[in-house]
Amino acid sequence: MSLVEQVYRRMPVPLQSAMITVRGAQLVRQRYGRAYREHKAALPGLLAQPYERLLEYQLRELRELIGYAKARSPYYARTLRNVDPDAIRSVEDLERLPVLEKEELRAHCEEVYTIPGREAIEAHTGGTTGKSLIVRYSRRDFQHRMAELDFFRETHGARHGMRRASFSGKHVVQEESPTIFWRTNRLLNQRFYSTFHLAPENLQRYVDDLNRFQPQVIDGYTSCIVDLCQYVLSSGQRFAFTPVAIFPTSETLYPHRREVLRQALGVEPRDQYASAEGAPLIIECPRGELHYQIQTGVIETDEDGEALVTSFSTHGTPLIRYRVGDRVLFKEGSCSCGWNTPLVERIEGRNIDYLISPTRGRIYASNIVSAVKDLPNSVIQTQFVQRSPTHIQVNVVVDPGRFGERQKAIIIDEVKRRLGAEMGVEVVTVPVIERAASGKQRFIVNELV
Ligand SMILES: [Zn+2]
Repeated sequence: MSLVEQVYRRMPVPLQSAMITVRGAQLVRQRYGRAYREHKAALPGLLAQPYERLLEYQLRELRELIGYAKARSPYYARTLRNVDPDAIRSVEDLERLPVLEKEELRAHCEEVYTIPGREAIEAHTGGTTGKSLIVRYSRRDFQHRMAELDFFRETHGARHGMRRASFSGKHVVQEESPTIFWRTNRLLNQRFYSTFHLAPENLQRYVDDLNRFQPQVIDGYTSCIVDLCQYVLSSGQRFAFTPVAIFPTSETLYPHRREVLRQALGVEPRDQYASAEGAPLIIECPRGELHYQIQTGVIETDEDGEALVTSFSTHGTPLIRYRVGDRVLFKEGSCSCGWNTPLVERIEGRNIDYLISPTRGRIYASNIVSAVKDLPNSVIQTQFVQRSPTHIQVNVVVDPGRFGERQKAIIIDEVKRRLGAEMGVEVVTVPVIERAASGKQRFIVNELV
């Protein structure tokens, strides 16, 4: 826990909201500069170009990124020493370049970085397999990414300043027995709802507050929003508002989940794929198709459909043929929405599992992943095993030179923050995370469900 977080924990609720607003003002300056405005203004024209022109744009960006990575990153200077960026004639030529595995990136990230941490906007990611990693974004790349995401949101009617309810992994509520499960950033008109307190007995308070707040936009973890909507439907209630747009993130938006959201909120949810590491974007259009936005990068798939991503907004931590851990299934044909980018049938592999806290109910994978995010580079893999309601076993594969008792204590502390202080937590160092019968390594094993 950082010093800022420790101070935050001791503040009364109105001061916590003020602090979130001040932090929000800093983020606004980082995110919405000139690069943001220029890129967002250019996007509609870019996407309306014929497909061949979009491919040319993609190829130019690809050569530029590879040239930059070779020149600025000691890691790529080595692995791409025999690659001439100008000799790349199409994205198919990428096949000649080496694949970057997650473990390779984690072990060598200091060598991969092209900019010092103080110049970067850092994103902490636990990844879906529980690896801890810090990705560095340049300001320009970060603003381009924000421009792409805001373009997507605006396409579906969401605007800055609209009342926005967000269900993210932020620890906005810190007390052991809270009665208010949200904090508000007044500058952005955004209310952050805790995703750590969605126990059945608390759900009505969330619903009542949403009815008071009347959000125009709802975004955040898919399973959390779905659970709230399911509760409203099954208890015979109705929300006292209809939002303009809903953007579920981080977890798979299965058809049955989509239906629950549509029924409870009266509007079509819009899906997006944008990993914290900075994968190219896949976003849903007004016609309900998923578009692979080739101006943001290249997605190749291997014979098993596993995605290898090369992302143009990763100059700080270049990702070139990075095995991101998800599967992407492409689809033939084009769309009449006005974006001439290729279509995606579906994305698989995002985790939907959860642990159960006796006091807080379900705690979802997206929230648990972040328990190891502040242990950069010492934890290689993590698995959370629950066999009893009051005990969690955390299996970790570690880098022995970097992992010790202090890191172990941090994991225990972070898990208790999520699942409640009374939860028994044991950290076990293991040589390898066992695979399930399916061959998949499961991040969460919950034997109670
Ligand atoms: Zn479309």
